[in-house]
Amino acid sequence: MKRPRVVSERKRAILERAPPPKERSRSHYWLKEERRREVEEAFAGTGPLPLYVSKTAEAKMRDHSISSGKQNLEALGLLLGDVFAHSAKPYTVVKDVATTDLQASGVSVSFDRNGFETLFDRLDEADFDYIIVGWYHSHPGYTCFMSPKDVGTQRRMFREEFHFAIVLDPMELQIEAFTLSGEKCVPAPFAVYWEEYENPYGPMKKLPLKPK
Ligand SMILES: [Zn+2]
Repeated sequence: MKRPRVVSERKRAILERAPPPKERSRSHYWLKEERRREVEEAFAGTGPLPLYVSKTAEAKMRDHSISSGKQNLEALGLLLGDVFAHSAKPYTVVKDVATTDLQASGVSVSFDRNGFETLFDRLDEADFDYIIVGWYHSHPGYTCFMSPKDVGTQRRMFREEFHFAIVLDPMELQIEAFTLSGEKCVPAPFAVYWEEYENPYGPMKKLPLKPK
């Protein structure tokens, strides 16, 4: 079985780069009021938020959680992206997600034993250099939190400061991001961002009228 060409986070220097601008970032509409306020406060401040999720990655996670939720199953996948720094503060960007065949039930989920090969193929299809910056999974109908098993996964597999866990509940329409603080998982404010060309509210070009 071939391994994906994941760029090791240890080999890569953290690049200094401005985070996605406020005009192209927004708090998630599934986010709790209290968390949404934190995001707005962070936007008003100077430093970057700890986490930015691309519109593409967000849509894929949401669709995956909804389609699995319809069968009362949990969804699970990996977050692919990069780590940058701005004003000496590190932040994580999720550019895409990848998933594979899952062993799922309504209350648990794990990657299928044969699923890793498919996953590695999908990781190789990603047309950018990425690192695995965390994972996402869903809790269909039982809200967003990190169960003791989830915390165990985070501690075992995603210990770095730039690692996040995103939990979605497609029934209650909730989303929450978590990161490790000591040995506990704590919620982290995050924003969804889009590229200039993806902006549905962007300026529209007037097409020249055809001469009659
Ligand atoms: Zn869970």
